[in-house]
This record gives sequence, structure tokens and C-alpha cells, in this order.
Amino acid sequence: MRKREILLGNEAIARGVVEAGCEVASAYPGTPSSEILPAIARFADELGTKTAVEWAVNEKVAFEVAAAAAFAGKRSCAVMKQVGLNVAADALMSVAYFELAGGFLVVVADDPGPHSSQTEQDSRAFAHFAKIPCFDPATAEEARDMVAVAYDLSEKYHMPVMLRPTGRVDHARQDVELREIAAPERPAKFTKDIRRWVCLPAHVRLNHPQLNAKNDAIREEFEMSFDAFTYEVPTKEKAKLGIVASGVSFAIVSDLLAAWGRTDVALLKIGTPVPLPVRRVESFLARHEKVLLLEETYPVIEEQLRDRTKVLGRWNGAVPREGELLPEVIAGIVARALGEPLPEETDPSLKAALEELQVKPRPPMLCPGCPHRASFFAIRKAVPNGIYPSDIGCYTLGVNQKTVDSAICMGASVTQPSGFHLAYRVDGKEQPIVATIGDSTFFHMGIPGLVNAVYNRHAFVLAILDNSITAMTGGQPNPAVGEKLRKGDSGRAVDIVGVVRGCGVSFVRTVEAYDIPAGIDVVKEAWEHARREKEPAVVLFRHPCMLLRCEQARIPVRVDQEKCVGCRFCINFFNCPALRFDEEKKKAFVDDRFCVACGVCREVCPHGAIVPIREEE
Ligand code: SF4
Ligand code: SF4
Repeated sequence: MRKREILLGNEAIARGVVEAGCEVASAYPGTPSSEILPAIARFADELGTKTAVEWAVNEKVAFEVAAAAAFAGKRSCAVMKQVGLNVAADALMSVAYFELAGGFLVVVADDPGPHSSQTEQDSRAFAHFAKIPCFDPATAEEARDMVAVAYDLSEKYHMPVMLRPTGRVDHARQDVELREIAAPERPAKFTKDIRRWVCLPAHVRLNHPQLNAKNDAIREEFEMSFDAFTYEVPTKEKAKLGIVASGVSFAIVSDLLAAWGRTDVALLKIGTPVPLPVRRVESFLARHEKVLLLEETYPVIEEQLRDRTKVLGRWNGAVPREGELLPEVIAGIVARALGEPLPEETDPSLKAALEELQVKPRPPMLCPGCPHRASFFAIRKAVPNGIYPSDIGCYTLGVNQKTVDSAICMGASVTQPSGFHLAYRVDGKEQPIVATIGDSTFFHMGIPGLVNAVYNRHAFVLAILDNSITAMTGGQPNPAVGEKLRKGDSGRAVDIVGVVRGCGVSFVRTVEAYDIPAGIDVVKEAWEHARREKEPAVVLFRHPCMLLRCEQARIPVRVDQEKCVGCRFCINFFNCPALRFDEEKKKAFVDDRFCVACGVCREVCPHGAIVPIREEE
């Protein structure tokens, strides 16, 4: 009997990638995709392959590294989350036109909801835009199965193929059958051919009709075969309703119909939404009076249909135009489409358990002892009238400390201050600006903005919050750390200070992030330099992330109830989860359940009420 293992969806995808014989895998971490690359390294070790598995500095880099490996005939893969695809989009649009030699899988994990993203975009729409085929898995095991098929399709048509799981597939666990490696290793062989590998306009003009022809051929294949992923679940009786569903929406609606005991609703599952096998959907439409269309998050299937008069979807408001299609949402949509009241809850135990646990929603906060909290506090103290642009990462939570005024996407913390600076400069005004960015994000996309600011003499302070980790996505290393992923691989650390100096910045200072007085002084000095010299100044706040659990001195603290005047300054501007407020006593106190005894808050209370606990206490 074949071995089985309960795998996370992302591990199942990784298993599929290694089983399919992928030899070069590159990624930038991003929830919900982050577990895929480490799992590729793990399975590559277990199956004894030579696969190169590397974190890249950003998604465009990951995509291009993997694409070039496919130019040389290897099976390769690039992994990212949906917003990462925006970063890689330039390369994707070009490589779609190429006649690849090896198989190239692009795994893009979407985040409907969204739970941890700055957008709710649907990467299937990007596949449609780039004219590359896309697979939309409903379960973890199906995602694994789609990987091998996607590689075969990629090699048959010599083009990139996208696998687009959503968070509910990435983070579901399922019993998955483990297989052996299906495709053998192949020697790298790059055949020079400028028509094939150089995206000159003259070549594009020739390649575009070829890309269109490939799409037509793939659509035809999706019409005629791929029945494992695109199929009908017929009814035993005359169907009262037809439902077309894609991705995890199919899994949810199948479970709901089974729970309700409905045998009068027909289902058409679409696992291949781009290019859509239109005839299959039109045939289903023709056989039903009305058809509900469930897909996350954009109407990618819906908009490929020529006639939508029978369709209940987003175009006529039957399905919400945004947000995750959770089971309770889909239940309501299906009930409305059937014209029936919502069935009684068959299993009220979950609701009862939640009520008993009294789980209260809590806004996201930086961890107790997080070095960023101290850095934000110092920045605000140093430049209280500043504008504070920031970036994507844990430190976006500095918004709780009123030290994040704007955030767009990775790297924009270094370009926004340029825009703010210019806006005030053209009015003849001087505006203090202190921007914040993390170490990983600085390498990801911060460097070009800094070069631009140096070149154009934009006066602002850039604070690089260096916690030696890519924390928000689960603690991956980055170039500043130098560690690599695959067993036996050793990297080389890249010195951020050297990079900053190399960008032409003349004022670069490093400060221990926990040292608030030193942080205040250095930010003041940096802004003075930036203002006077009309150029950016950089401050590196350094302290390891709490997730790394480094050894550090324990400084237990308490709030002296005599000295506390109940002003809430510590709560509102320092915002440590371990600092709580007693509404009855109107005093702050330290909640020992959360306090990690970093001791930083001693510097925070303007009344000196937060004090160290002496040994004898
Ligand atoms: S501990 Fe200090 S800052 Fe916090 S509420 Fe009391 S007096 Fe205000
Ligand atoms: S010592 Fe202060 S800042 Fe550190 S975790 Fe405890 S309450 Fe929070």
C-alpha cells in the first residue's frame, strides 16, 4: 500500500512540485503561500533530489530565476502570494510570450477575505490578462494532483502555467497519498535563439498570435479532457437549481448540499477557469432554468461567458462582489437562489462551543517585547510633528502607535516620503518625515526608492527596523541574515549598512532598538542632517524579533499605583499587550500573562510610574 500523510495544503503543493521533478524552486514569503518553499526543501531532502530551493529577495526575482531555469530545460517553479504577483507581473507578461524549453509552474496563493493582505485581488484574472492557463484547486490533494498536470501542460505548450490555491486550500489539512518522483532529472541545456529568448518588439509581434493559438488549443483541451478537475455532479431527480463552482467554493457548496440532503441541485465543478471551457458551461446553462455561479473573488468565469441572462452571479448582485465566500455566506446565497428559507443549523455544537469560550475579537498588535514598538515610540518622540509613511510587514501595526500614516505596498515607504517632500517643497515649506521599513522589505523593494531619493536630494529620515528576520510571514531568513533553506546550503550575509552607503547615503547610524533615549537622539540628529544637507538620512534600529526567542536580560516591571495618574499615555502610545488598564481603579497595570520582561516600558510613562521590580519584591 502506498504511504499516506496528513499534509497542509501548502505541503501537498510542495510534495507535488518535488514529485513532478522540479529542479529549481524560488519564492518570496507571503501569507498564505509561505509554507510551500520550506516544504519543497523538506520533500527534496526526503526524496533525495538535487533541487535548488531558494528564498529570493522579491517575487520578480523569484519568477525570473525560475523562468531562466525553464529556458535551460529544467522543471522549475516560482511561488508567491497574490500581491507578490504584482511585483512579478512585468516578467510574467513577457515570459508568457516565450517558447519555454522546460516546465514552469507559477504558484500564486490568493487571500480572499483578505486576512493578511493589502488587496483582495484574484490571480486567475492575472492569468487571463497574461494569457496563461490557470488551475484552481478545491482541496489540498487536488492541488497536489494539479501540479503534475500543470507541468505536463506547460511542457506541451512551452509556456508558464499557474496554480492558484486560496488560503482555505493552503491551510487546510488532508490525508494525501505520497508518490514517487514522476519526471527524471534532466541536464541543463540552454539553446541560444534570440527570437525565442529576447523580448524585442519584432519578436513579440510574431509571438503574440502564437500565444493566442496556444490559448485556443488549451481551451479546447479543457473542453474535451481534464475531467479529473472539471466535471459535473449530476442529480438523481430534476434539478431545481444548477451551480457552477470553482476552487474552495465547490468544496463548501458540496458539503452544504450533502448536509442539507439536497438531491435536486446539479453541480458543475470548474478546476480550469482560464481559459474557460466555455462550451461545457454553456451546455450546463442550457440544461438548467437558472444557474448560480460561485467563484472567489472576481467574476473570472462569469465574464468569459457570452450570455449571462440565466446566470445568478456578481453581475446581477446574487453573489457579493467582495469578501470571502465562507460557508455561511454560500448557504445564504444558495437559499436565496432556491427561493427557500435557510435550513436550520444541523450541528449547533460549534456555535455553542464558541459561546462558551467567550472568544472576543481583538485588534492585531505587535508582540510583547517587539523591538518595533520601542522604535516607533522613539520616532514619535523625536519628531512629533512628522509625517510617517510605512510599509508592508509587522511594523504596519505601528498604526496603533500613530506612527504609520500611509502604507501602499512593499517598498513604498521609501518612495512616499519623496512625494511628501516634493509636495511641501514646491510650496516652499519644510516638513519633517520619518519613514519605516523592515530589513526584508528593504531588500525586496526599498533599494530603488532610496537610490531615487539620494539622486534627487529628497530630505527625510528612513528608519530600517532590522529584526534579523522576515517576521510577519513566519520567520524566513533574508539576505541580511544570510542563512539558506536547503540542508547543507550556506549563504552569505549582505550588510545593510554597506548597501545603504552604496546607495549614496552619507548619514547612516545604527541604534539598539530597545534603547529609547538613544533612538530619540539619533532620529533627531538624522532629521537635522536630512534638513540641512537636503538628502535622505538612514537610521537602523536593530534588535532581534521576539519570534527568534534570543536570550536577553529579563527586567520585570510593575506599575506603581501611587504614581500612576491614569492618563493612558502608555496604552495609547506604547501599546504593549501586557500593559492593561483597570477601568475601576483608573490605573494601568502589567498583565504578567503577556509580559516578557523586556523592561522597555520603563522609559515610557511621563510620570515615572512604570518601575522595575526589585529582587526583594
Ligand atoms: S502608567 Fe503612566 S502612562 Fe500609563 S496610565 Fe499610568 S501614568 Fe499614564
Ligand atoms: S516589560 Fe513592559 S514593554 Fe516589555 S513586555 Fe512587559 S509590559 Fe510590555
